[in-house]
Amino acid sequence: MKRARHFPLSLERLARDRGSAPRAADGLLRPQGPVQAAARDQRLQATPAGLGLDSDLVRRRMVERLRAQGVRDEHVLAAMLQVPRHRFVDSALANQAYEDTSLPIGLQQTISKPSVVARMIELMSGGRPPQSLGRVLEIGTGCGYQAAVLSLVARQVVSVERLRPLHDKARELLAPMRRHNLRLVYGDGMLGHAPNAPYDGIIAAAGGAHLPQAWLDQLAPGGRLVAPIVSPAGGQILVLIEHRDGRYVRTEHEAVHFVPLKSGTT
Ligand code: SAH
Repeated sequence: MKRARHFPLSLERLARDRGSAPRAADGLLRPQGPVQAAARDQRLQATPAGLGLDSDLVRRRMVERLRAQGVRDEHVLAAMLQVPRHRFVDSALANQAYEDTSLPIGLQQTISKPSVVARMIELMSGGRPPQSLGRVLEIGTGCGYQAAVLSLVARQVVSVERLRPLHDKARELLAPMRRHNLRLVYGDGMLGHAPNAPYDGIIAAAGGAHLPQAWLDQLAPGGRLVAPIVSPAGGQILVLIEHRDGRYVRTEHEAVHFVPLKSGTT
């Protein structure tokens, strides 16, 4: 199988390291009976070698830390409790998966820190419960972790990635979760994704000098957009745009550090 160099993610390797060796991607897409499905789910829940502790327990601790740091939205916390972050990083990094740190996912990109994922989704959803948070657009799928979390707090999620190997890998990593309300798109997210617009929420996982006009055009009335933007001082800050009463109301929030937003596809 041809593999992109420098690409550390491998679910198969994670499985091999655990000694359970499920055929990760292809086996999961075949229709299966409930018994096989239960056995498979159990294998997928297993803790990778090196994590040291039961992954449910470490994930619970991560969520408690997020709560202590001020994350209030219970839907976001519940979603983060559910998504196995360790499965979205290379097995060599799995023991750091529940620390509040960003980690490399290959091609010079990173999986965002859990606290930043929680904070951005909380800001974007603005307290709207999952049933009323309709369609969300994510720019920068990366490994697919945030997309998985989003798919648990919104009715429909479209996530765009400009790097083909990451888009393909995210598809593979997300397959076991069978999130039928999540659509992965390979393309330039600076153009948003017009076919599914408008969006009730837009969230960017990469930071540019300014907000692309397409994002504003594709934000539904009442919608909320959260993105890192390069600040005049040189760093990045989190910006929230609320589309209300025909206006775009901008507020600036904390300093952040995201990979750059780039145009075009590779
Ligand atoms: N959402 C990820 C973070 C990914 S890092 C998580 O769950 O942690 C940011 C991603 O944005 C990178 O994969 C990068 O390739 C992508 N990106 C940067 N500019 C983009 C663009 N114009 N369109 C789509 N993706 C882009």
